[in-house]
Amino acid sequence: MKSVLFVNHTGQKGGAELFLVDLINHAPTNWAACFLSPGPAVDSISKDHECFVLPAESDLLSIKRESSFLLQFLALFSLIKLSWNLSRVCSKYDVICANSQKSLFVAGLASFFSRKPLVWILHDIITDPAFSRLNRKAIIAFTYLFCSKVLANSQASKEAFIASGGQEKKAGIIYNGFYVGEEEEDRALTKTLCPGKVATVGLFSRISHWKGQHVLLAALSQLKDVNAIIVGAPLFGEEAYAEELRDMVDKLQLNDRVQFLGFRNDVKELMKSVDIVVHTSIAAEPFGRVVVEGMISGTPVVATKGGGVTEIIREGETGILVPPNEPDALASAIQTLLNNPDLYGRLSRNGLQEARDTYSINNTLHSFQNVLDTLEN
Ligand code: UDP
Repeated sequence: MKSVLFVNHTGQKGGAELFLVDLINHAPTNWAACFLSPGPAVDSISKDHECFVLPAESDLLSIKRESSFLLQFLALFSLIKLSWNLSRVCSKYDVICANSQKSLFVAGLASFFSRKPLVWILHDIITDPAFSRLNRKAIIAFTYLFCSKVLANSQASKEAFIASGGQEKKAGIIYNGFYVGEEEEDRALTKTLCPGKVATVGLFSRISHWKGQHVLLAALSQLKDVNAIIVGAPLFGEEAYAEELRDMVDKLQLNDRVQFLGFRNDVKELMKSVDIVVHTSIAAEPFGRVVVEGMISGTPVVATKGGGVTEIIREGETGILVPPNEPDALASAIQTLLNNPDLYGRLSRNGLQEARDTYSINNTLHSFQNVLDTLEN
């Protein structure tokens, strides 16, 4: 069994990091993780696996699209130094796997220095305007030069990679994998609506404008007898947006109906406790872990159309899809679901079945193992 060193630039618990934690914790013990900055994800890797932080200089981690040319130039030195240090660790492993975009650059050079094959797991739709032209060109160049394989987290992410000039022959797909226990199956069989009870919907995403928490607030203002929990924190500096959301709650007089719970580690339990899981991203989601997690919880999901979500949900069968950034459509989908117990039960059962069949952690491990078998050392 080949040994693998996964490299990730942040230790914050975003979707890509949770993918990595789930993958490694269910993998052979010769798979290890290296984070380039500390954070709670580091402590979530099981003690059976090697896991360490190789800290990147702050000039490298803070590089942004709008950073000056001088800053980007200076960060190059930090990049080369860090890659060299990483390459010395890499000699112990058969394969290096970069799990984030920033880590692609570090792991790319490290794979060159150590002569180890590199796999990149692509968690983004790189045609999104959040990626500058220069950034996209650098990504594509690194994949040409250093990657043996690029595994996208959805068809949408893969297509965007190829549309940006990425090599089709290197591109594959690896879906996020989830552990599904027996109790989830029982839950789906029994999940029903309580007539007369005030319904609660749950939104589970980091607080960020593109995750669209404001769309849910606007939809709630059109619904009677529906409360909401908003779960998540501004992980990558979106505190101003979090403030805007609180102002919006005041303005729409939703104080009694909306609760902000901050970042939680018990998303699974919270999803089971609500009547509907909503997903409100206003831009195409590269994958959408929360959509699959909602399905696994047995709670029906209403989600925004686009990107990976459209691949996950079969409209009207395993969930309901609504157009992005349209509070009216979201409000109407929530109301339809609450008024229709048959539809509610069907989505609950089918959603879980689909998630179990397609997004099990074993399927993901198996796909990754198959890719490892094709690599030559
Ligand atoms: N999540 C969490 N606690 C929170 C909010 C979100 O653990 O308070 C998790 C959520 O369960 C999901 C991940 O964060 O596994 C978000 O992944 P997704 O693919 O939905 O979005 P991303 O953050 O990758 O854009």
